[in-house]
Amino acid sequence: MIFFYSFLIFLFGASLGSFANVCIYRLPRDKQIISGRSFCPGCKKKINWYDNLPLISYILLNAKCRNCDRYISARYLIVELITAISFLFIFLCFKNLYTIIFLSILILILIMIFFIDLENFIIPDSLNFSIMGLALVKNFLPSFNTSLVHDINQSLIGGIIGYFSIWLIIFLYKTLKKIDGMGLGDAKLMAGIGLLFGWQSIPLVLFLSSILGLFFVAPSLLKKQKTMKSEIPFGPFIIIAMLIYFVFGDFFYGLILV
Ligand SMILES: [Zn+2]
Repeated sequence: MIFFYSFLIFLFGASLGSFANVCIYRLPRDKQIISGRSFCPGCKKKINWYDNLPLISYILLNAKCRNCDRYISARYLIVELITAISFLFIFLCFKNLYTIIFLSILILILIMIFFIDLENFIIPDSLNFSIMGLALVKNFLPSFNTSLVHDINQSLIGGIIGYFSIWLIIFLYKTLKKIDGMGLGDAKLMAGIGLLFGWQSIPLVLFLSSILGLFFVAPSLLKKQKTMKSEIPFGPFIIIAMLIYFVFGDFFYGLILV
């Protein structure tokens, strides 16, 4: 029976991944999310339902629009797969229904932010505010038994420290080097993380995301494809660092405290 449920959850995750793809395309362009059928960005033709099935259609169409042969970005398949796998993983790892629903909504929003920032170098306020809202609601739910905090004071202090940690970096960069390194979108995302995990998470998430950022940017810096002034989307690194903290946070702090 668990296999049957797992299969259903996987399909459900893939469908929501499909919805996430629509948001990833439309949110940065300020288009209506719900209304309006999906269309091909190449020929503007409406996509038939049988060409719009999560995971399957991409493979059956061989990654091309049926009408104009324009290539469909691999991102569509990747987002559907990641969402399906994340939903399945959360379903199998947690027993409590609140925890499963909460974490599933959270991961869906994080996946949208990850890919929107990667493609457009912005994080829509609507998504950042959704995370903050979720993080506040969580304080009034029964404890999830995870690295999330459930104390409203700790949560609020975390939010403020998260926001100002990035704000300070932006301010210093502006005054010392006269460049915009990061945006306030990153600061709002970090505020959300502080609200979720408390202030204790901020130093580690900042540290890990900087290391990850350096690791990925260093090769193109060396090849001179990018300069220190080039824009890099920092949101995806913050999100990966946050997920590492979610899974291994207690372990890291154990190491420091020993
Ligand atoms: Zn087309």
